Amino acid sequence: MRTETVEQTTEQTLEVWVDQDLCTGDGLCVQYAPEVFEFDVDGLAYVKGPDGELLLAPGSRVDVPAHLRLEVIDAAKECPGECIHVRRAADGVPVAGPGADQ
Ligand code: SF4
Repeated sequence: MRTETVEQTTEQTLEVWVDQDLCTGDGLCVQYAPEVFEFDVDGLAYVKGPDGELLLAPGSRVDVPAHLRLEVIDAAKECPGECIHVRRAADGVPVAGPGADQ
């Protein structure tokens, strides 16, 4: 049986996206990783590009900065809307959030 752990994935590039259709707007993700997540005027969370610009197109993905992996993974695990998707960039395998083993 295959098991993924945070430790096993720390050396791999991760990417993250938010499903705004399920976002409750509570702001947990913005608290955890304000460099990655931010509210738009609609009160929903979006990911930000490296230049800090909000990516408003549905399904927009960004690479997770190496120093924020654990914060982004924790946000995905605890997101009350279960709408933060963290996956391995190389093959799309879910690491945290919907579809992940943990
Ligand atoms: S933690 Fe989840 S539900 Fe809460 S604001 Fe962020 S994406 Fe939305």
